[in-house]
Amino acid sequence: MVAAQLAEALHRGARLVFMPDPEHPTIRCPSMDARRAAAPLAHPDVKPAAQALLRHVSAYRRTLLALFQLAAWPDSRRALTALRDDQATAHRLIDDETRLVDELGPTLADAVRAQIADDYRDTTRLCPLCGGADHDAE
Ligand SMILES: [Zn+2]
Repeated sequence: MVAAQLAEALHRGARLVFMPDPEHPTIRCPSMDARRAAAPLAHPDVKPAAQALLRHVSAYRRTLLALFQLAAWPDSRRALTALRDDQATAHRLIDDETRLVDELGPTLADAVRAQIADDYRDTTRLCPLCGGADHDAE
């Protein structure tokens, strides 16, 4: 239920803010609509569940950022041994991602992934999918 509420808030324009503390994201609501959708999450009865959920969101972001970075690696032409290490890392990250998507539910996971991908593209000018420079997502 909390996950559905957060997904709804994101859908209505709320943004997850990972600064200054990426482990404790906050929710920024640029519109009344977003604020209304996010308001139930601040209710004292819901807040512990919302905070637990945001910890999963934070872990999910960490995993996604690591996966995006791996996607960017091939361009850097690293040695083959490093690529083999990356494969083990990639498998572990994909396991983590699967587990966290289960934890968040697919609707919230999609909304979070969309924002993290946008943030990544804004900050690095790299495509989160292929690591290519400065183009819109496929
Ligand atoms: Zn791309």
